[in-house]
Amino acid sequence: MATSMLIAGETVGAKSGKTLEVRNPANGEVVDTVPKGSLADVDAAVDAAAKAFPAWASLSGAKRAQLMHEAARKVKAAVPEIAKLLTLEQGKPLAHAVLEASRVSENLDYYAGLADKLRGDYVPLEDANKFGLTLRRPVGVVVAITPWNFPLTLMANKVAPALAAGCTVVLKPASTTPLATQRTIEIINSVGLPAGVLNTVHGPGGEIGDALVSHKKVNKIAFTGQTETGKRIMQLAAQNVTRVTLELGGSDPMIVCDDADIRRATAATAIGRFFNAGQACLAVKRVYLFEAIAQEFMQKIADRAAKEWPVGDGLKEGVKMGPLHTERQRAEVEAQVADAVKRGAKVLAGGKRPEGKEFEKGWFMEATVLTDVPEDSRMATEEVFGPALPVFIVKDLDEAIAKSNASVYGLGSSIWTKDLAKARKAAEQIEAGYTWVNDIQVAYDQLPFGGAKQSGFGKEHGIEALDGYLEKKSVVLAY
Ligand code: NDP
Repeated sequence: MATSMLIAGETVGAKSGKTLEVRNPANGEVVDTVPKGSLADVDAAVDAAAKAFPAWASLSGAKRAQLMHEAARKVKAAVPEIAKLLTLEQGKPLAHAVLEASRVSENLDYYAGLADKLRGDYVPLEDANKFGLTLRRPVGVVVAITPWNFPLTLMANKVAPALAAGCTVVLKPASTTPLATQRTIEIINSVGLPAGVLNTVHGPGGEIGDALVSHKKVNKIAFTGQTETGKRIMQLAAQNVTRVTLELGGSDPMIVCDDADIRRATAATAIGRFFNAGQACLAVKRVYLFEAIAQEFMQKIADRAAKEWPVGDGLKEGVKMGPLHTERQRAEVEAQVADAVKRGAKVLAGGKRPEGKEFEKGWFMEATVLTDVPEDSRMATEEVFGPALPVFIVKDLDEAIAKSNASVYGLGSSIWTKDLAKARKAAEQIEAGYTWVNDIQVAYDQLPFGGAKQSGFGKEHGIEALDGYLEKKSVVLAY
């Protein structure tokens, strides 16, 4: 079996005939191959999207909504098949892959519901014989570039609002996770989208990324990935003044006050840090504990890490944490932990690879908790994109907020307290796109999501996401 690209309504291979292998991170076996796209394939996909744009943009919102609702229904029916592909290529437990695949259909329904409600304004003007209007017009061809940690939800966050707004799309998934995405896109396309409305190109970002981002026919880039890649995309996009939405890295702080419910807070911390083997943009990445509850919290989170997060192949029953996605990713997290330990940090749980034959060929790592982590160590200053959590002790809320903000990132954050004054202060002062109070990072379709500082800009989710795919045009009518 070989997976294809979708260009101009056809499933095709690369023009060069070259392919890329996609491997299972739990055992290193080849799951499938995809076409290794080149510049000629990028041109073909962008041309198809540009050609399809005028008709798609002028189709009624109601018709676009109908097609998208139908796509949501078909994707939902295919969740078991899509989820299995996702576990095989990405590594996450099957139950979590099912959740992720299901989110695609929810997201399609959400934006389908808005597709026929887009409208401008009537604006009275000073001149008696004139009035103003604003029109909302789709921006044009969108290039969507997605990472490997949540390939499906991050694809849907871009494709669904773009289609609802009347844009056409060229999607480039991460080279290591193209399979579930391609299958899902083919299902969406099969409801009768006009040829060229939705296209995919596979291939290494380092080789075809520049061509996609700086293509003259591309009007908007929606990117999720590392901050360094985002910076490069922003620079290249400047050439044609192409619009960008950047969803980049994060190092979310969690503040636990002395009046917090420690049982709930530790349960949430474990999910917030170990879900998806810690490879999440929104994740609990630094915990700041008030002194009075610090020992109890550390004991409980260490127990949870050791007992409640069984590691293994994502297809195996009962596994809650799969392997890290690549060998390089595990090496990076291990190096960050080693750096902290070398500088005096204490390991409260995990800190190593699980032992046994079943773990030998995959990129597994135990759920890890550290304390006494120096504040200038890599774990405190960099994004930790894996299952390793540093906890710090603070004397009060001011110190906790100051330390929370001492990061180049500003994506998510949370505070655990029963005191509304503390919650309000944290919500107002933490520099981040999201603050949860007594909760963790579930991002809702209804609420806008996006970063502050070097976590990026522009919003996904909510009606606000549509603003990234529409332009407001002013019209003056004289009579
Ligand atoms: P990368 O930036 O390495 O890759 C993301 C995507 O960009 C991939 O499709 C990749 O292709 C592509 N790419 C790589 N180089 C270029 C280039 N020069 N031009 C255009 N595209 C390029 O990120 P990761 O895949 O490693 O993802 C993890 C990162 O994503 C973390 O930092 C995480 O925090 C962040 N993230 C942010 C989220 C948010 O919403 N803020 C959500 C989820 C993750 P290829 O795979 O072929 O290299």
